[in-house]
Amino acid sequence: MKALRLRTWKSDPVLEELPVPEPGADEVLVQVGGAGACHSDLHLMHEFEPGALPWSPPFTLGHENAGWVHTLGAGVTGLEPGQPVAVVGAWGCGVCAHCLAGVETYCERPDLAPVPSGGGGLGLDGGMAEYLLVPGARHLVPLPEGLDPATAAPLTDAGLTPYHAVRRSLAKLTPGATALVVGVGGLGHLAIQILRALSAARVIAVDPRSSALRLATESGADAALTPGPATAAEVRELTHGVGADVVLDFVGSDETLALGAQAVRQLGDLTVVGLGGGTLPFSFFGVPYECSVQTTYWGNRTELVEVLDLAARGHLTVHAATFPLSQSAEAYARLARGEIDGRAVVVPSRAYRP
Ligand code: NAD
Ligand code: ZN
Ligand code: ZN
Repeated sequence: MKALRLRTWKSDPVLEELPVPEPGADEVLVQVGGAGACHSDLHLMHEFEPGALPWSPPFTLGHENAGWVHTLGAGVTGLEPGQPVAVVGAWGCGVCAHCLAGVETYCERPDLAPVPSGGGGLGLDGGMAEYLLVPGARHLVPLPEGLDPATAAPLTDAGLTPYHAVRRSLAKLTPGATALVVGVGGLGHLAIQILRALSAARVIAVDPRSSALRLATESGADAALTPGPATAAEVRELTHGVGADVVLDFVGSDETLALGAQAVRQLGDLTVVGLGGGTLPFSFFGVPYECSVQTTYWGNRTELVEVLDLAARGHLTVHAATFPLSQSAEAYARLARGEIDGRAVVVPSRAYRP
């Protein structure tokens, strides 16, 4: 089968020929129907130093996956070949306190996993391939009626990550509150829709690309701003001087962190999701009183079930550009050039092949 592989750190991925994996005990082979191109993969390809992570290339990219159950390994029950499924991306040890609580993103004993990794596409082979080997049926969620794998794939990260971040701040997203979404790409355009679906808060979006601002408005943002020296003041103006109750930063650069700190309200949340590598000097008067500053990482299986349900019921619309597997490197190149609105999704196949 064809697979888009990261061979070494600080390199561009390469399409290679690999054998189709055979599922062992408890494993499931998934025929990939959609693999989203996440901006984290661009960070992964070009910014990580060897040794910075507990796992390393070579591996197949793609940590945002959906498809059809193809072959069940020994002992797997509850799934049928041909069944459309989304893949829960973070693969923890399955037995530590966090994994048992369903929070495999924050596994505390990666050394107990068969192979330590961040999941498929993050150390282990991911979904930018015709088939994906998933090490456990617990990592699969059957798709609800009406969702196909190509649509569901981006929901497993571009949908799930903002869903987790929004849920964490839900108590502050009351009617009359304002959420500021910084960066309206794959995650940001779904964040706006998730905010609209879960809360009555107003939404202000910020992005330097005019097409992203159009997508923000289509996605339900009440205001869409181009970032600049006056952006924090504009946010304060739009919020009667008080600032945004919740800031979701999908960039994470020095500039956006500074914007967040200037635009967030007292008692608010400043949540950093983007891996832009920026820093925010923290001090008593550096952020408004009782403002919480946090990062969030991905989301869990229960939350993915909820995101898929929201989408199946029409509350979330993924804006996607699709690419065949042969064009997967081009999908990342276009993402890097800022030419993708919403999500680029690689679609290795459109239908199940028994
Ligand atoms: P994307 O490239 O699709 O979107 C990023 C958007 O930010 C683009 O629309 C871009 O125009 C905009 N942008 C760039 N500079 C900006 C600025 N100064 N102000 C406002 N907007 C700006 O990326 P994505 O796939 O949506 O990912 C967003 C970020 O989140 C990336 O850093 C990615 O690595 C990270 N990420 C984190 C997690 C997590 O769990 N924490 C999960 C997935 C992705
Ligand atoms: Zn991602
Ligand atoms: Zn664990």
